[in-house]
Amino acid sequence: MKYNIPFIKPNFPAVNELANEYTSIIKSNWYTNFGPYEKKFRQAIEEYIDHNGIISVTFANATIALIAAIVSILGKGDGSKKIIMPSFTFVAGAQAILWGGYRPIFVDINPDDLQANINLAQKILSVDDDIVAILFCNSFGIGSKDIIKWESMARKHSIPLIIDSAAGFGSKYSTGEALGSKGNCEIFSFHATKPFAIGEGGAVTTKDSNLAKKLHEFTNFGFNDVGNSTQLSMNAKMQELNAVIGLLQFKHFESRLKNRRLAYKNYWRHLEGVGFKSVDNIENSSLCFATLICPPAIDNLQLIKHLQSLGIQARKYYNLPIHKQAYFENGLELYNTEIVANSVISLPIHDDEYEYTDIICREIILFIESKIK
Ligand SMILES: *Cc1c(COP(=O)(O)O)cnc(C)c1O
Repeated sequence: MKYNIPFIKPNFPAVNELANEYTSIIKSNWYTNFGPYEKKFRQAIEEYIDHNGIISVTFANATIALIAAIVSILGKGDGSKKIIMPSFTFVAGAQAILWGGYRPIFVDINPDDLQANINLAQKILSVDDDIVAILFCNSFGIGSKDIIKWESMARKHSIPLIIDSAAGFGSKYSTGEALGSKGNCEIFSFHATKPFAIGEGGAVTTKDSNLAKKLHEFTNFGFNDVGNSTQLSMNAKMQELNAVIGLLQFKHFESRLKNRRLAYKNYWRHLEGVGFKSVDNIENSSLCFATLICPPAIDNLQLIKHLQSLGIQARKYYNLPIHKQAYFENGLELYNTEIVANSVISLPIHDDEYEYTDIICREIILFIESKIK
């Protein structure tokens, strides 16, 4: 189906914007394997996060980056040890845990910020000695208000804290700090659907220079400086063309973020009064899309279907949550996760003008009025 208002609408550089760099890649005969553009992009990521001593490693995508972080920090598991993570997120983290040789243990979320509940995680940690790490998720790329508490809990239990911030490049914690400097490392995605889009790509940021070196070598068959493969690894390199797109995206990123936040504000201005609930700290995020909780009397899936029938591509992240998806289903029940999955709606956020949000809000309000009558 073709939507008049698509869910996402990334802006990629026009052909003429890319022409010089593309020509230069061909002239230099250097297409991948840490070429000059990959190095520049890596530095640009570090500068953007603007935190002393942050090192960035680029990846072909964020899912491989998650696998790399898990096995570089913990070593490959034999399937007997476990990693705590929320179920109310994208499935990539759980898949990465399995690829790393560990098992995901899903923890329920808070109803106000939709992030993993730290007290429940603490309870699991205190009774289960097989937990070897936490894969926290800044869900929807929204910086968690509890991130410092997660860091101290991980420290207290002497286990690593790996942070999936995939949708959150450009987001800020409630302290005003950019995402990217917490835990052992944070993982970002630059997939076409994310606010900072280059097609396929990812990055890990960390203050730990040994970890950064390991991650960097992971992306290139585990080769050390003299081409000797020294660890379990993969080919996970970012190629030059993607890095060029990334460098060009930085030029417009701040103004796009501004527009995305204005779009969200406009949704909230219209929908707060008709019973929707917001998510803590979403206004400081890069708004991968607008996440709202529907009023109790409204069936979220019915509203989404109605909007779609009008050419408005609303969606339902995350329904199903991971613990209800076929490969992970084992009878577990997570109270808040299931309530939220059955009341959440995800609305489009675009980079440029935000008039579309007026149109969408008008349709949502009409729908609600028709249900309440
Ligand atoms: C998008 C996303 C990923 C996967 O990123 P890719 O670059 O597509 O591999 C992982 N985790 C979360 C939370 C995401 O939103």
